[in-house]
Order: sequence, then C-alpha cells, then structure tokens
Amino acid sequence: NTPRALNFGAGPSPLPLSVLMKAQTSLLNYEGTGMSVMELSHRSKPFMQLMTHLKSTMRELLEIPNTHDILLMQGGGTGQFSAVALNLLAARAPRRQAYYAVTGSWSKKAAEEAKALGVEVVEAVNGAKELGGYTGIPPAGAWRLPENGGKAEEEVAYAYYCGNETIHGVEYSMPETLSNLNSFLPVSVPLVADLSSNILTRKIDWTRHAVVYAGAQKNIGISGVTVVVVRRDLLDTATPEHIPLVLDWRVCAQADSLYNTPPRRWGGLRGLDQRAAEKSSLLYRTMDESDGYYRCPVDPGARSRMNVVFRLANEDLETKFLEESVKTGFVQLKGHRSAGGIRASLYNAVELSAVEALAKFMREFQAGHP
Ligand code: PMP
Repeated sequence: NTPRALNFGAGPSPLPLSVLMKAQTSLLNYEGTGMSVMELSHRSKPFMQLMTHLKSTMRELLEIPNTHDILLMQGGGTGQFSAVALNLLAARAPRRQAYYAVTGSWSKKAAEEAKALGVEVVEAVNGAKELGGYTGIPPAGAWRLPENGGKAEEEVAYAYYCGNETIHGVEYSMPETLSNLNSFLPVSVPLVADLSSNILTRKIDWTRHAVVYAGAQKNIGISGVTVVVVRRDLLDTATPEHIPLVLDWRVCAQADSLYNTPPRRWGGLRGLDQRAAEKSSLLYRTMDESDGYYRCPVDPGARSRMNVVFRLANEDLETKFLEESVKTGFVQLKGHRSAGGIRASLYNAVELSAVEALAKFMREFQAGHP
C-alpha cells in the first residue's frame, strides 16, 4: 500500500482524496446510468445537468454577476492567449492596440501570442526590465497605461495582466496592487486577467474585470477544461473576421459551452483565501526564520500564495534538498526549468498538514546541512 504522495506540483495539482474516491465508485455507473461519465452523450440529461451544476457552482463561489457569461472551453490557458487577442480584436474593432503588464513568463507568452496575431502590443510594464528579474510587481510610477479620455477609448482594445505568475511565484496582492491598473486605466477599456493559478482563492472584482480565464488543472480540478468568464456585451458584437470555432467565445456562449464534445470529470472545490494565506505564510515564515539559508527572490509584497519559490546557497545543495525531499515523500518540488531552485505549489487541494510537513522538512534539512 503506497501512501499518498505529498504532491506540490505546479499543475496538474493534487486532487482531494474524496473526489478521487467518488470518481472511482462512479466510474462504471454514473448516477444510475450504467455508464461512466466519459461514455455519456454530451447531449444527455445527466451530462447537461452536470454542466449546469458546474456553472452554477462557479457563479455562486466566485459571485459572478449576470453581466458576465461563464464559458467552458478547451485548449487550456494557452488557447486563451490566442482567444483573448482574436475575440477582443473582433469585439473592439477597429481598435488594434492592447496594453500588457509583463510580470513573468506567462504574461510574456500571452503578449507574444497577441503580437503574432496582429495586436499592437504595448508593454504597460515589464518586471524583468524594471526590477532586473521577475521578482515583483513594479511600483506605480513604472507603469505606462493609456490616459483617461477619448483617445484610449478610441484606440485601446483591452488591457491584460496575469494575476499569479506560476513560474516566478509573483502574485498581485489584490485588490491593493490592482489599483496600479485601476487608477491609470480608463474603465471603458476592458481588463483581462489570466487567473490560471490563483482562481478560486480570493474574490474577484467583477465591476472591473471584463474577462477572466483559468485552466482547471490547478485550483479547480483536472486539465482539459478552461473556465472563461466574459462580460456579455463583448459577446454581442458582429465579428468581421472568422475566429477558429473552438476559440470563438460567441460560438461557445451561444451553444451553452456544448458546441462540440467537451472533456469530462471535474472535481469542484471551495477555495479559501484564508487557507491560501495560512499555508503560504508558513513557508515564507520558515524562510524568514532560516537566517538566509532559504532565500525567496520575490518582493514581500508580491509573494505568491500559490507558488512559493525559493533558493538555497548553491545548486548542489538544491539538488541534495530535492533528493532528500523525495526520500521523505514529497514530489514535484523542483523549480521550473527556466527559473531553477525550489517551487512548492499550494493549490486549493494541498492540505495544511502537507505544508506543515514541508516546513518541518526544511528546518530539519537546514539542521542536517549547515
Ligand atoms: N497561464 C498561467 C498563469 C499558467 O500557469 C499556465 C500553465 N501553467 C498557463 C497560462 C498555460 O496554461 P495551459 O498549460 O493550460 O495551456
């Protein structure tokens, strides 16, 4: 009997045991249908009910108002890099300009994809240039955003940011840091947020966000589904150009997210801001109390509650840390290959007890390798 791994993966993330057990028991017979959910027609009543339930749960948990529609799409976060550009160029035609806040690898990729698709990308800010690396959210003075008034409304299609940079462990401390965007950006310009790695962990201000999207594989469930919340007025417009069907928000909305065969099986989760803060602060505290043995490269004000990144004195010691962590039962603590170091991802399904075990391991490792 292998014990459950203490999984700190950056996505896919661990799933609650109760969800896995339920999936196991209903695998051969979902809700008395004599079939698994994977075998059900996506037009069948039980499947439609599952979709409706899913959307109403999302609406309730995230307090999404009726001004916004919930779409369930495929193609992951990466698909939305393209979808955001294509749909908003169409909805906001003839505007072609968009402001991107680049605070890590994911917003950088999104900006590059938009540029490749014909968006005139303006870098609202670039963390690497301002701070010498993606180690925080640059201060208000460093931002370049369109000024209020007619010009922005005429020219700017949308503004874009990534709420939590999964690789660099940089998170906007909403709503405070968001005021950078809020105070400079005209309200008439739609604001887009990639919340792939911190959705369902805190409240979202829907009066300010026109589009929010997130892949499900971190804080919600498993990969295959992408949640896209779009303000309805952006779905009303006539599209002058063809958008690939699987990326077209309007096609998805009109078909109630069942235009084509969707992927199956979700684990619905209640994400708690407080729990995220409690888990992450335990690790940051362990670092702060380590006399510099563990170093977090991220500014205290932008330290992610979801992806806690840290370094040891040198790479040899980091390798030893990772080897011993595996022997102790931890998996997937290695930092992203582009960033190095250690990364512990603390999505909703990661138990506090696992984080406590990690903090204890960190202290013991330090004592054993002074
Ligand atoms: N945005 C963020 C913030 C991410 O963390 C990721 C994936 N880790 C993506 C976008 C890309 O998502 P996907 O792998 O679902 O395409």
